[in-house]
Amino acid sequence: MTQLALYACDPEHTRGRMHPEERPVNRSQFQRDRDRIIHCNAFRLLEYKTQVFVNHEGDLFRTRLTHSIEVAQIARTLARNLGLHEDLTEAISLAHDLGHTPFGHAGQEELNACLHEFAPDAGGFEHNLQSLRVVDELEERYAAFNGLNLCFETREGILKHCSLSHARRLGEVGKRFLEGTQPSLEAQIANLADEIAYNNHDVDDGLRSGLITVGQLQMLEIFSTHYSRVMGQYPNLDRRRAISETIRGMINTLVVDLTTTTLANIERRGPDSVDAVRSGKPLAAFSPSMRAQADALKSFLLANLYRHHRVMRMTTKARRIVRGLFEAFLDEPRLLQDEYRREGDVAQARAIADYIAGMTDRYAIREYRELFEM
Ligand code: MG
Repeated sequence: MTQLALYACDPEHTRGRMHPEERPVNRSQFQRDRDRIIHCNAFRLLEYKTQVFVNHEGDLFRTRLTHSIEVAQIARTLARNLGLHEDLTEAISLAHDLGHTPFGHAGQEELNACLHEFAPDAGGFEHNLQSLRVVDELEERYAAFNGLNLCFETREGILKHCSLSHARRLGEVGKRFLEGTQPSLEAQIANLADEIAYNNHDVDDGLRSGLITVGQLQMLEIFSTHYSRVMGQYPNLDRRRAISETIRGMINTLVVDLTTTTLANIERRGPDSVDAVRSGKPLAAFSPSMRAQADALKSFLLANLYRHHRVMRMTTKARRIVRGLFEAFLDEPRLLQDEYRREGDVAQARAIADYIAGMTDRYAIREYRELFEM
């Protein structure tokens, strides 16, 4: 590991774990967190959870697992260039989507809607909060505690957003949402690496699926700059390679811009500790023109890919499945295995939400068939 900057998180000075443990041998505290995440059940389930395309639509499409690995790769490059703690950034990146429901955002929105409708006191469903819940409570691997007992810094990074009402009951890790302060730079760059990863791989998957076209994308500056450069240099290049080279160029431009802009912000503000990073405005940022280009790409994907009628068909089907499961289990909790049965309506609704959120796409489809088809 390269030398840590003064503003990096130092595992020797972690704010610690909820349940005190002996120090790891031959590993840092953040390496231990990263390793615990890789070994947990929720991490393996990411392989069969939708990013945009449902897992069985094709073997080359991203899943939540490959997405998380791409986020970690980009975040580690950024961390190394900025003198941050790579293992912490990697841990946050690999864990950031652990709380995702099956079927991507559609699944999460439907689960949230169900909770609000049928158990208004249960506090709804937020996937970031669920990721924290997975590592704090739901994983059952260790003898002495529930969850993975991760360091404060890893938990802080996993909790990217959170409503104020939840922040109030989360203690130390919720504080920054009430105070309007920032998380560590490791967390800030993991968050932006997430955006770089999904914008670019969704272009790739979108083109592969045929739902969007190179012609449409050429209207976007960030795509057309690289596409024209590649085709200028290799006029006879086949389509697949041209797309790969274009996306590779886009990722590189975004990473370099983010690094340069963030370093300039650091230079100007001169943070000399993690606490200096946490107070004040976010330090990790794209330049204004790159921010505008990334936003244009995001809006394009929203309008043309995420709301494409073929994606919408899958999305509405996914909503019906999630709602169907939720209502059936809440109506008749005896349909559930004992481990998901609870006393009290709120606790039962929450346990059902945890059960559904933990399902992979194919498991949810199987459960739905079992409950609704003869
Ligand atoms: Mg993500």
